[in-house]
Amino acid sequence: MSANKANWEIYVLEYARAKDQPIAALVNGTHDEGLMDTPFAFVFARNGTHNILVDTGFMREGSGAEMSERFGVPEWISPLTLLAELDVKPEDITDIFLSHAHFDHAGSVHKFPNARIVIQKSELLSWHEAMALPPQFGFLTDIINPDDLRNIFDASVEHRVHLLDGDKDNVLPGVHARFGPGHTIGQQFIILQSARGDIVISGDCVYSSTNIAGHNHNGVYVPLNNAIGSVWDQLKTIDRINDVIEGDLSRLVIMHDKDRWEHLPLVKDVDGFKISRAH
Ligand SMILES: [Zn+2]
Repeated sequence: MSANKANWEIYVLEYARAKDQPIAALVNGTHDEGLMDTPFAFVFARNGTHNILVDTGFMREGSGAEMSERFGVPEWISPLTLLAELDVKPEDITDIFLSHAHFDHAGSVHKFPNARIVIQKSELLSWHEAMALPPQFGFLTDIINPDDLRNIFDASVEHRVHLLDGDKDNVLPGVHARFGPGHTIGQQFIILQSARGDIVISGDCVYSSTNIAGHNHNGVYVPLNNAIGSVWDQLKTIDRINDVIEGDLSRLVIMHDKDRWEHLPLVKDVDGFKISRAH
C-alpha cells in the first residue's frame, strides 16, 4: 500500500452483460457495425484510509430486477460478491461517487450504509424535475429507477449526500470531480490519481473509444446515440476527458467497454466476470 494518500489502487469490476445490442444504439454513425454483448461495470478504489466506489451497479431484486429484465441484461453477478472477492464489506465503503443516476450506475446505493454519496446537484435535481413532467416526457426518465432516487433521498435525510456544483478538486486527496453533461444533464466524470498517472472514470460520458478517437481513428469526436443532453455538451465533455488523458486511451476507464478492459491487467475472473486493475 502506498503511503501517499493521493495514490489510489483502482479496480474495474464487471458485474453484468447485455446480449446482442446494436452498437448503433450507443455510438452515432455505427449502423454497419452489428451487435455486441454490452458489459456493465463500476469502480472500486482504495488508498489505505478510504474505500470508494465510482458508481455501484444494480441489485437484481425488486424494481432493480424489473429494470434488468426490461433492458435485457441476462448475465449478472452481485456487486457485493465482487467486492467480497477484494475483501471489502459493504460497510467498509466510505464514499460513492455517482457519475449519474441511471439504474445501472446507481442501483445499489442503499447497500452501503456508511457511505457518503457524491453527485452533481444538477444531476439529482434534474431527475426530480423530469419525473414531475407529464407521462409523454417518459423518454427522459426511461433508464431511471425511481427507487434509486428514493434511496438517495433517504441518504440525504441521514446527511450522507454531498451535492457538487460543477468541478471540484480533491473531494478526497487525489479524487477530482469534473462536470461532464451530455449523456445526462448533470453527469460527472471522476479523475483518480494513481501510480501510473491520472485515470479517468468515464461514467457514460463515453461509451466507446470511438467517441474520442473518431470513426476509423479520424480524430473527430463522435456523439452518443443514447443521451438526453445536447450533442454540443457531449462533445465538449469528450474534449475535457481527452485533455486529462492527453490522448492516452489506456488512462480512460469506460464503464461499458465492449473490449472488456483487455488493455488492463486481469486480477480475477469471478464466474466469468472480470476484475481488472487500472492503477
Ligand atoms: Zn447512463
